[in-house]
Amino acid sequence: MSLIVQKFGGSSVADAEGVKRVARRIGDTRAAGNDVVVVVSAMGDTTDDLLDLAHGVSSFRGPSRELDMLLTAGERISMAVLAMAVRELGIPAQSFTGSQAGMITDGIHGAARLVEVNPDRIRESVQAGNVAIVAGFQGMNRQTRDITTLGRGGSDTTAVALAAALDADVCEIYSDVDGVFTADPRIVPTAHKLDEVSSEEMLELAANGAKILHLRSVEYARRFGLKLHVRSSFSTLEGTWVIPSPTDADSRDLTKEIPLEQPLISGVAHDRSQAKVTIVGVPDVPGYAAKIFGSLNDAEVNLDMIVQNVSTKSAKRTDISVTLPQDQGDTALQVLRRVQEEVGFEDVQYDDRIGKLSLVGAGMKSNPGVSFQFFKALSNAGVNIDMISTSEIRISVITRLDLLDDAVRAVHSAFDLDREGEATVYGGTGR
Ligand code: ASP
Ligand code: MG
Repeated sequence: MSLIVQKFGGSSVADAEGVKRVARRIGDTRAAGNDVVVVVSAMGDTTDDLLDLAHGVSSFRGPSRELDMLLTAGERISMAVLAMAVRELGIPAQSFTGSQAGMITDGIHGAARLVEVNPDRIRESVQAGNVAIVAGFQGMNRQTRDITTLGRGGSDTTAVALAAALDADVCEIYSDVDGVFTADPRIVPTAHKLDEVSSEEMLELAANGAKILHLRSVEYARRFGLKLHVRSSFSTLEGTWVIPSPTDADSRDLTKEIPLEQPLISGVAHDRSQAKVTIVGVPDVPGYAAKIFGSLNDAEVNLDMIVQNVSTKSAKRTDISVTLPQDQGDTALQVLRRVQEEVGFEDVQYDDRIGKLSLVGAGMKSNPGVSFQFFKALSNAGVNIDMISTSEIRISVITRLDLLDDAVRAVHSAFDLDREGEATVYGGTGR
């Protein structure tokens, strides 16, 4: 008998019909002779709706104890409703909050990290013949005894952590598309599903805007040598297997399952959630960049790309541009204006009408032609490039926001990723 951990995203349990469909799916998995542990997200757009509600009564925008209390209610609803629907099929089921499931975190509200996973109650519940249904995205801190959340999309990480702690045979992540695609099928209808992707590539895709998996869940799975099966709850098709790189697997021998010749490119990711901040006229002498980045670091601003240029305006000065999440834009601007006089730069500019496009593929490591082909595609599409950054298996550029979709389609075609037949998006509002 196998133990399967199944995680269902919000769009899979958006309404009563969806919950019943997921319950039947769980029932089928049981009927095939498996033990099942389920992790569930909040129904539909519940988390966003709860955030809107909070913003309606409070001007405070940051994470807090009370916001975590509110947001975790979303998963608490879906776990209980799903348990009822499973019981309705004559299958015993019990739901558990994150803290009941032993998800112990640090105390950082809104972005808590797991420090311990003790799923004793889950194990007991399954041994007693139940389907155990766990609320995703949440945990508890031992010191404060408060409820925490793992950050948006964190239910994937709950599922992976539980699968690792329970030594599950498979961890399945269900969403509203058939797997990991070569681009977002909502933008590129000719995108196709990947049968396999390495966790290294998946990390780059997730970190650069592919919303299919929570970045930390991929890191976690890679650390524990766990394979993930990303698939749709709306179909029974085989999805995408995310396979940990052999060097990172701690115990299992995965060498035989890694494809010998990686395809050149695995996909194109895009991100509309960033903003660009340009610090104009920074004195071009040692120490000034350190002062600027020191103050941003103290304010816990997460920087992504960083580019320095000779100043267009003044001699002996440079312009430094950075990208960061839009929701940290205000903080960054406040910090920079505060240190402007002391550091002695001339101005700060802010632009959130930007998009980031990333091309990811393990094969580009050994293929120098990739960047040429990439920039040629953007140029043919008339897309101007604002900033560039690269890793061994990724090239990213910042473009104007209104050109981003065209740029994604152009690059996708240029690398021959288009396939006949439209990709199916079964549900979700893409919110
Ligand atoms: N419900 C949470 C969110 O919307 C967690 C999740 O879906 O994974 O971010
Ligand atoms: Mg999600």
